[in-house]
Amino acid sequence: MLGQPVVTKKTYCKVCMVHCGLEVDVQGDRIVKVRGDRAHPLSKGYTCPKGRATGEIHHHPDAITRPLMRKDGELVPVSWDEALDDIAVTLRRIIDTYGPHAVGINFGSGLGLDSSGYAMEEALHRALDHGPKFTPLTIDGVAKVLVAGAVGGFPGLNPKTDYDNVDLLLYVGTNPMVSHAHNTGMFNPAVLIREVARRGEVWTIDPLLTETAKFSTRHIAAYPGKDYAVLAWLVREVLGGGPLDLAQPVQGLEDLRALLDGYTLDKAAAIAGVPAADLTDLLAAVRRHGKLSVETGTGITMSAGCNLTQWFGWLLMILTGSMNRTGGTWFHPGFLMPFEGFELPEIDPWTPGSKTRPEVPGVLGDWPCAVLPDEIEAGNIRALFNFGGRLMRTFPDTNALAASLPKLELNVMTEIVDNETVAFATHVLPTKGVLERAEFSRWDTLNWNVSVQYSDPLVPVLGERRSAWWVISQIMRRADLPVPKHVPTDDSDPGADKAMLASLFNPGSRCTFEELAASRHVERQLEFPAAWVDRHIERIGGWNLVPERLVEQWRSMGAADEAGLGQPRPLVFSSRRQRRKLNAQLDFLGAENNVLLHPEDADARSIADGDTVRAFNDNGEIELVARIDPGMRRGVASLAHGHLKGNVNLLTSKTAIDPLSGMALYSGVPVEIEALA
Ligand code: SF4
Repeated sequence: MLGQPVVTKKTYCKVCMVHCGLEVDVQGDRIVKVRGDRAHPLSKGYTCPKGRATGEIHHHPDAITRPLMRKDGELVPVSWDEALDDIAVTLRRIIDTYGPHAVGINFGSGLGLDSSGYAMEEALHRALDHGPKFTPLTIDGVAKVLVAGAVGGFPGLNPKTDYDNVDLLLYVGTNPMVSHAHNTGMFNPAVLIREVARRGEVWTIDPLLTETAKFSTRHIAAYPGKDYAVLAWLVREVLGGGPLDLAQPVQGLEDLRALLDGYTLDKAAAIAGVPAADLTDLLAAVRRHGKLSVETGTGITMSAGCNLTQWFGWLLMILTGSMNRTGGTWFHPGFLMPFEGFELPEIDPWTPGSKTRPEVPGVLGDWPCAVLPDEIEAGNIRALFNFGGRLMRTFPDTNALAASLPKLELNVMTEIVDNETVAFATHVLPTKGVLERAEFSRWDTLNWNVSVQYSDPLVPVLGERRSAWWVISQIMRRADLPVPKHVPTDDSDPGADKAMLASLFNPGSRCTFEELAASRHVERQLEFPAAWVDRHIERIGGWNLVPERLVEQWRSMGAADEAGLGQPRPLVFSSRRQRRKLNAQLDFLGAENNVLLHPEDADARSIADGDTVRAFNDNGEIELVARIDPGMRRGVASLAHGHLKGNVNLLTSKTAIDPLSGMALYSGVPVEIEALA
């Protein structure tokens, strides 16, 4: 490498969905420096520590570069042919003996941004007759699509803040200063939040005075999972005294009024565990500004109140005329498949669930991740394809999962860095990393604007890694499963990778693949307010304000919370993202595995800042470092998630799940904490 010239190449970051522009200095096959691309049209040089670690991710000391197969209990390097043939023989036997639904697929985050690999995962799922499917949806965000489908008739509706004009912004259980608002694609959050706070108001509801809350106009420290009470009361007050301003037709207005009748300020404040003045001040802000945007994050979608909070957040925006209107929210119209180009189908988000928990519905074909251990134990799932998921840290109930995974007859992973989940695999298949393959930003509706980006590979492939689409299609071909006709047989053919990416474009797409590959970034004008949104809502008869299943959950949870008023509340944990960590990834950035405690909660347990503590409940126990934080709400312990040592999922349960979606509860879960001697 020494003596070779340093070449600067441009790409975009694929660590998270924001996709900041990057400049990467490459010397030979080494990444020597990564920095923000000041010329990038959106991010203008912004990056975070995670994106700047792109080179370290690529050159990880535990990188997997050859296929591995378990022989005599050990994972050993083998040829691609040996690994693929062995998988195919076992897969075919399982399908012939037990049927295709004995094969489960986890659409993990590892291949989530591999556009053509993901498309081949979908092809495999189709070839297996749409059997058990798991995705991160039921780990962190199912309430969003569920409410979009139930209220808006289309789960792909994703309201985004009109940051240019919004004067009242309400963040509930989201910390965009750290997460970059994930499905909004929010680069440089500090500048954006400060700007809104300067011209209007930003309110944050969170049990912790987060980085975002510190930038906000006001902070409300609601009890985890009970934020819904704040929003429900606001909806009631808007219905009673305005500002009621319907921009689109609605269904069920009078039913909603009746449902919230008697939901008083005192009751709502007591359930949320906040002073009543917080609620009246927030209502005054709503009345001052008329329109608003409500953004939620994993702080609510991982709690028992997930669906209710999301629902009431939507109702607040609908009733104030903030949906699809200036000063409120806009809807992403899609790029690859423009939504205005066809009649949006009306889709019920709920789908059949698993065999072991049939009473818990699936959502959009996903099964709850929480059912995987029981499905394996029952013999319903005998083979698992895990496409880049760190199951042992991200799936709930790690102890139950660890006991069940060895019972699989086939446990195939695509993975490029050794980790604790690899230890359970029968086969490990290394696929091209983000810098080794041509790629584009396929998840277009999560982008900040109507645009897509493309990047050529920056460095040669490490070792024997192959394209993910090729790996999956080879398993299918060898197991005699149908492979789509357009899929090439060899990824080493020049142009094969690009041909696979091009196949994801269609005649209606806002540009061709060739145009994108030539210019790397294509942006189209946003229609706002969008006629297609109003047309869709009119066609379905109006926003459904009172979806039956949400009403039922409101009645049961509301009654339980009301009955519990006046009772002592247990210490609960909520889980938290960190700036130098992304879920189970990026351990090497050194984020501390810690728990934040209010000083009085710490004193009551004789815990000092920096102590090693044991957090435990009925499901398990973990060790963490205690940090005393006066910004933490009393009665709540905030656990950093995604760590191996201090794995939050040793405290979650496969049975403590949201009955409407199977979402495992990661927030508002009872816990106790004690200092270790
Ligand atoms: S915000 Fe996301 S896309 Fe931007 S640098 Fe950080 S990890 Fe990468």
